Amino acid sequence: MKNQNDIIQRFMLESLPVRGAVVNLTGGLATLYEGHQYTPDEQLLIAECVMANVLMTSHLKIEGLVSIQAKGEGNVRLLTSDCDNNFRYRGLLESSHEFSDEKALLENLMLTMTLEPAKGQRYQSIVPVDSGSLAKAFEAYFDQSEQLPTLFRFVSNGDKAIGLMLQLLPEERERADDWEHIRVLLNTLMDEEMLTLSFDEWLYRLFHQEGVRLYDERPVHFGCSCSREGYERALISLGKQEIDSIIEEQGSVETQCHFCHQVYLFDAQDVTELFSSGSDKASH
Ligand SMILES: [Zn+2]
Repeated sequence: MKNQNDIIQRFMLESLPVRGAVVNLTGGLATLYEGHQYTPDEQLLIAECVMANVLMTSHLKIEGLVSIQAKGEGNVRLLTSDCDNNFRYRGLLESSHEFSDEKALLENLMLTMTLEPAKGQRYQSIVPVDSGSLAKAFEAYFDQSEQLPTLFRFVSNGDKAIGLMLQLLPEERERADDWEHIRVLLNTLMDEEMLTLSFDEWLYRLFHQEGVRLYDERPVHFGCSCSREGYERALISLGKQEIDSIIEEQGSVETQCHFCHQVYLFDAQDVTELFSSGSDKASH
């Protein structure tokens, strides 16, 4: 579902070597949360993960997919999202539902970022981070993995979610004073401003001395990449014996996508056909 509010917009500062992007995820939030029993804090985490994902993808210069996976020792067992270069995103959180606070949710996170170009080599980086917030975890990721000073800021009131990413350009790493200046400026930005003003209003208020050059905005939308073919491959990889025993017990194999809740049903005949042509499909 497309929503006119849901956009990503990149920008550059004119007098400092800093690039950035802002995202508004308002319209897609209901779809992202639909069918999951997320607590308000879990909703916030999944929105933050998706926003970070979209923001990171906005700097991608190639066609492909960026995915995030966070596994922790806190209450969050798995937090994952992906976003392609057309800004189609999805996300999922699995937790023990014994919620206390964001810090307890996020203990000893193992963050995995994967870049899958449409053509070429897949690139993956895994960084352990222990921080009280997801924003800090992503900042630590860029610091450790990419040596790129990066700041994230997320704000949500449940109905509306806004995210900001700022990054010091790689060739300008030594400009520590400039970066400190940006950090101080960002601390003056109120959550309320991000939620109530338009992007250009609060960006201008924040960086009116540095100057902001805005690039064209692009729509972002929830969408799932699951397919019947994908589940067919999964069934084949489980093996004929395993699938036959499910058919024997239940009459059919029912699978459901955890991201979008689409159900894929395979009856006895589907399964027979699948395994008779299985060697073909498995190799695709
Ligand atoms: Zn799906």
